[in-house]
Amino acid sequence: MYRGVTTFKCTECQQIFEADFYDCDNHWHAIPPLCPNCGRLRTMPMLLADDEGQRHDYLHIWEECERIAKEKEEKRLKSEAKWLANEEKQRKIREKIRKRKAKK
Ligand SMILES: [Zn+2]
Repeated sequence: MYRGVTTFKCTECQQIFEADFYDCDNHWHAIPPLCPNCGRLRTMPMLLADDEGQRHDYLHIWEECERIAKEKEEKRLKSEAKWLANEEKQRKIREKIRKRKAKK
């Protein structure tokens, strides 16, 4: 659910930035936005970033989000590989047709 714009802090590079706050579990835990500086997912609302307990909670969220991101990336790479294989097949077919035409 969308909760508005919030100030986030990256726990990796300490970058502070504003991003949309979507909560992921109705416990006011934000879906971590990507850090605009280092591109990592280890971000959390700035107001909570110094709270040990909150950081502990967010550790699980980050790990889950990183797992999902990794799965998405793997799927994307697989479909890209498939697409490239198809592209290669089509190229060979076009090549064959061209050769056949050249013979005539
Ligand atoms: Zn960062």
